Amino acid sequence: MQEINQNIAKHLKQQRQQKNWSLDRTANETGVSKAMLGQIERGESSPTITTLWKIATGFQLSLSSLIESSKEQNDSTVIRPVLEQHKYLADDKAPAPAIFPYDDRFGFEMFEFILEPGVERLSDPHRSGVTEHVIVISGTMELLIDGQWLTLASGEAIRFSADQSHGYRNLSEQAAVFHNIIHYAKVVSEV
Ligand code: MN
Repeated sequence: MQEINQNIAKHLKQQRQQKNWSLDRTANETGVSKAMLGQIERGESSPTITTLWKIATGFQLSLSSLIESSKEQNDSTVIRPVLEQHKYLADDKAPAPAIFPYDDRFGFEMFEFILEPGVERLSDPHRSGVTEHVIVISGTMELLIDGQWLTLASGEAIRFSADQSHGYRNLSEQAAVFHNIIHYAKVVSEV
């Protein structure tokens, strides 16, 4: 089993135990089928980014906290090689580790995505108060924000509320690379 799938399986099991949620309850809270949740927990399935977001939103977690191993990322450590270890397709395939995983001290996580030509990924709203910051490193891409596709060229950046439907696509002939800083509003009170 791939390390990343092991991490996801472990985190999902832990979260269910902590909350004392059955598979039925988890399916209701996340919108992911019981069968799929079981497969993910047994490491028999590589969840897509869309599925992971559903799980993260249902459990009120950041995306990266489902993906990462539990070991802490140290400050003042060079993370390398960013382009090899962290790149992954921003289509709906399996995810890769964040450059900076979510850390409660800072409230954000940062990913690098490669958007291949012709790829389009639509995203359900993330939980309330989630803001994305997209910075295009190379190539040209489009973002669906407030129902409109906006073109962003290399070097351009935008911040948008991601607690609404949004999307990413690449209509050009070259891959686009972008960074995504995902900021989570603090949960002030939990029931
Ligand atoms: Mn998103």
